[in-house]
Amino acid sequence: MNTILNELLRGLDPDQILTDEPMREHTTMRVGGPADLFLSPASPDQVLFILDTCARHQVPVAVVGNGSNLIVRDKGIRGAVLHLGQAFSAIEELPGCRLQAQSGASLSRLAQEALKSGLSGLEFASGIPGSVGGGVAMNAGAYGGELKDVLETATVLKDGKIITMTCGELEAGHRTTRVLREGGIVLSAVFRLESGDPDAIRSRMDDLNARRRDKQPLQYASSGSTFKRPAGHFAGALIEGCGLKGFRVGGASVSVKHAGFVINDRDATAGDVLSLIREIQERVLRETGVSLETEVRVLGEA
Ligand SMILES: Cc1cc2nc3c(=O)[nH]c(=O)nc-3n(C[C@H](O)[C@H](O)[C@H](O)COP(=O)(O)OP(=O)(O)OC[C@H]3O[C@@H](n4cnc5c(N)ncnc54)[C@H](O)[C@@H]3O)c2cc1C
Repeated sequence: MNTILNELLRGLDPDQILTDEPMREHTTMRVGGPADLFLSPASPDQVLFILDTCARHQVPVAVVGNGSNLIVRDKGIRGAVLHLGQAFSAIEELPGCRLQAQSGASLSRLAQEALKSGLSGLEFASGIPGSVGGGVAMNAGAYGGELKDVLETATVLKDGKIITMTCGELEAGHRTTRVLREGGIVLSAVFRLESGDPDAIRSRMDDLNARRRDKQPLQYASSGSTFKRPAGHFAGALIEGCGLKGFRVGGASVSVKHAGFVINDRDATAGDVLSLIREIQERVLRETGVSLETEVRVLGEA
């Protein structure tokens, strides 16, 4: 460990390197054991440096944004977490109603920047608590909009090379893209928006965020919708139909407000959350014949 730390210190400041960092501090579900290394690069060169250093030391690297769609298991992550957050979050306006954002920028800040510039198209994303990188990789969406609708290009680090992928090349589907399926790190993205009236943009954002507060258990730790929407159904309605609202395993339960959300309301472990998810999947399959696929991503050792 000391050898890789000394090498990392040649390209990163000490405050960009954390060891044994509890991942519960970096997931909105508030679960997860420690990551051996938690690295927060501030530039694409530092990302390349980290990947190169870790590869030479045969240390696996997992990329994490805001941890809002992530469950880290209780024994944590052996290897390094590459965290694209605050230090990697510049947003710039480009000609032609476009915004370019680094991956660590939050989607809510991106939507606010669009509002400030009188640009419409990202209102749906203003309440999604993820980062640009996680959002693009997952093709995040809400209220009829998805990032692929406004994404022009993404700059992606893949197989050691930095490449520009068009939105079409990302082959985005429901909460998935080629980056998620095949690997790669989204470094930044360019969004093509439309000129709009700031008052109308603000009022649409306010309306969507009020709908979120009304329907979602935002006062509890969660990873948002636990399951993808199964074709022809709503996950929440199926779970509610099986009588699982309020159903609990340890400190995790099915939200009474919205059955599509598993919440951590009593100091849950990742084990509690994952057992509850399995139990929900089994009950829903048995009683309705529908197989629920998780939207949340799982990392680390059990
Ligand atoms: C209360 C709440 C409400 C939510 N509402 C919505 C919603 O309306 N719509 C929606 O789509 N989602 C929603 N989510 C889920 C989540 O916010 C989104 O999936 C978001 O896009 C995840 O971004 P993140 O930065 O948190 O990614 P993380 O959780 O950190 O990571 C998610 C996945 O993306 C990968 N990843 C992260 N960054 C990168 C990168 N730079 N390059 C490549 N891969 C990367 C990770 O390896 C992981 O597999 C909600 C979550 C919560 C807690």
